[in-house]
Amino acid sequence: MRVAPELLLFLPAARRREEQAVACDGTSTLGHLVEALGVPLPEVGALTADGVRVGPSHQPSPGERVEVAPVPRPQPVPLEPGQDAPRFLLDVHLGTLARRMRLLGLDTAYHNDMDDPALVVQANEERRVLLTQDRGLLRRRALWFGAYVRGARPDDQLRDLLDRFAPPLSPWTRCTACNGPLVPVGKEEVAPELADGTRRSYDVYGRCTECGQVYWRGAHGGHLEKIVQEAARTVAAARAARPASSPGAPGPGAGGVDSAAS
Ligand SMILES: [Zn+2]
Repeated sequence: MRVAPELLLFLPAARRREEQAVACDGTSTLGHLVEALGVPLPEVGALTADGVRVGPSHQPSPGERVEVAPVPRPQPVPLEPGQDAPRFLLDVHLGTLARRMRLLGLDTAYHNDMDDPALVVQANEERRVLLTQDRGLLRRRALWFGAYVRGARPDDQLRDLLDRFAPPLSPWTRCTACNGPLVPVGKEEVAPELADGTRRSYDVYGRCTECGQVYWRGAHGGHLEKIVQEAARTVAAARAARPASSPGAPGPGAGGVDSAAS
């Protein structure tokens, strides 16, 4: 088995090399063997056996050479009718990433107290991509669409997410606290709610339609502005370097391999 370099981080350190000899029992599926190495199936793209595209339900035979590729980047996400951008659900430890994604206008659900089964239920019901750093969560068969977030720092996590999905961005349109959409609001309208310093120094730009929070380009405006500009550059670079894979390409669907088949 040859494992793509992008997937080696999932292997135990002692086995972290591209060429792997894998015992072949004649009954295990390729999907099972890949997962047994430590690679969650939602991270896997094309699988080939002796150069021929196969699915995760393929049963390798002795001597076969199998190649395991990562999901393509940008990775397409199936959209529901009327939906123009992917929606996301973040695992409990990704609160800072959630706020940054909302700043960029990405529809991002996040709760700091949800167990794994509840996360899978919400992701599936609302057709949200579940982002996590928990490989066990990505192995759940019932999960519609999951993705592992690379990086320990929120900066790196955000860059990885934007590079992977290259989603359309609408900065300053969403409440970073609750994910509600913002509506534009005049400064006069909210003046009574603002402290004197804020009223003098900053421009109001929105009010959350769900929790009522008022937003203005405040003391952290420069920092947030930098995040927004950097994000736009990352998405542009991802789209330019690797245009979305051509329609009609053979093999597993947009959401990585079809886990139901393995
Ligand atoms: Zn809100």
